[in-house]
Amino acid sequence: MPDCNDTLRELELFLDHELSESARLEIHGHLEGCPDCLQAFDFHAELRTVIAAKCRNDEMPPGLMRKIANCFGPDFAEDGLATDHDTPESS
Ligand SMILES: [Zn+2]
Repeated sequence: MPDCNDTLRELELFLDHELSESARLEIHGHLEGCPDCLQAFDFHAELRTVIAAKCRNDEMPPGLMRKIANCFGPDFAEDGLATDHDTPESS
């Protein structure tokens, strides 16, 4: 079983569905038994939902994304920010 550090470290991969099935099950099992990690997981999951919705609707206030990126570091900014802008919308 992963401990709390393992779980938190793999949280982003878990949310990205980039873990193997067995790793996902282990993380999931830990979350069910650990309120602290579950709370962290809920926070990250909700944050992603909010960010995804805001990005789609293009309603993200300019300063907010920068604040969030500062919280998570440059990796987050590179992965999450510039994806939608170069994509042609056909519909
Ligand atoms: Zn834990």
